[in-house]
Amino acid sequence: MTNLNDVTKDAKKLANDYVHEVYELIKKRNSDETEFLQATREIFDSLRPVFSLHPEYISNGILERLTEPDRIITFRVAWEDDQGKVHVNRGYRVQFNSDLGPYKGGIRFHPSVNTSIMKFLAFEQTFKNSLTGQPIGGGKGGADFDPKGKSEREIMRFAQSFMTELSKYIGSDVDVPAGDIGVGRREIGYMFGQYNRLKGGYEAGVFTGKDPNHGGSLGRKEATGYGTVYFVEEMLKEKGLSFAGSKVIVSGSGNVSTYAMEKAMQLGAKVIACSDSSGYIYDENGINLKTIKYLKEENNLRIRDYLKEHPEAEFNEDCSKIWSIPCDIALPCATQNEIDEKAARLLVANSVKAIGEGANMPCTKEAVVRFVENEVLFAPAKAANAGGVAVSAMEMSQNSMRLSWTEEEVDEKLQQIMKNIYISCLNAARDYGRPGNLIIGANIAGFLKVANAMVAHGVR
Ligand code: GLU
Repeated sequence: MTNLNDVTKDAKKLANDYVHEVYELIKKRNSDETEFLQATREIFDSLRPVFSLHPEYISNGILERLTEPDRIITFRVAWEDDQGKVHVNRGYRVQFNSDLGPYKGGIRFHPSVNTSIMKFLAFEQTFKNSLTGQPIGGGKGGADFDPKGKSEREIMRFAQSFMTELSKYIGSDVDVPAGDIGVGRREIGYMFGQYNRLKGGYEAGVFTGKDPNHGGSLGRKEATGYGTVYFVEEMLKEKGLSFAGSKVIVSGSGNVSTYAMEKAMQLGAKVIACSDSSGYIYDENGINLKTIKYLKEENNLRIRDYLKEHPEAEFNEDCSKIWSIPCDIALPCATQNEIDEKAARLLVANSVKAIGEGANMPCTKEAVVRFVENEVLFAPAKAANAGGVAVSAMEMSQNSMRLSWTEEEVDEKLQQIMKNIYISCLNAARDYGRPGNLIIGANIAGFLKVANAMVAHGVR
């Protein structure tokens, strides 16, 4: 490999022109897809040095191919509510890239779901899955269905109708879905059950995130949150810092957030705030996780109900204000673009030391710039939250072998994977002239593995 210092001016220009041209092309082709363009832009900005060193990726049209999904499936999901009224939602599966393995990625049920959000998530997933080092390609799916306020039976009917159509396109060697926002064990159970009913068998590895009592992996539920904290702890260690004794804010109160809080607390941090879509709670004595699990995992209640048990805590309806609370470490674990420039400024003004993205793309481009300019340690989503899908890939392995690993075995493997991802990001950042920048490192390391497989597999 030529050294970055030996790259000629012409090679640099060729790389810059290439990145610019492809971005203009995808902007034109996907002009109304804000989130997808945001995610591609962020990657493109990191990849210039790669193309100046590897012109073969340019002649192979890697960027053009990597930004056009293999296919996007959209379908009608008709279902009947408890009153007998029929509703229609739109279902999606974006099968983005399968050069490293079967398409792999979660399913999201949320009213905001649209083509742009599905595409950005599937695109990010391709890089994230590559970073795990496991044999999985990238995909994502979902529907613009709002599970809030729906009865258990309505959710079951919706999930079954969704799977009746999706079942035509997935399979344990083809495309393996899992959960995401609005899709947990219960919904996965209904979809998995419907798939097997339609296929007339039991295909264990067609879904991950299943209940460990029937086919799921131990440790999957905890994996994304734990993994985020493991990754951030590695990053802190490098600077002589740690979760121990730190004040932490974790947005959200779903699966990722709950287990990020749990691991942060186990490492000696004090978590002082978390949220749901209706507001946030601030408990300066430290959040009581038992209460959060009781409210959210067990009873599907609102976060404001935390005050019934802990009247000393405060509730605020404005979710965005959670970032105005001074903290050492912020872990955005709710949803995309939840930290904008204003929130980033507040965090920086309050001397935040580190950000770890537990959700997918929770920081806007402007927010990321603020953090980097102010030398706040930054763990980007596709690396930091890869623990969930990493344990999903372990679930696929266990299903293939028809055996199950203990929680300890899974956790040990997860810790090792998060460490490896951290090292890959550091190495790529160093090799491409941006030492210490984990954002650029994650993008480059994730990209190289997919790009090399694409070259090896020929033009398709
Ligand atoms: N939805 C999760 C993610 O964003 C997990 C995907 C999976 O386990 O396949 O990575």
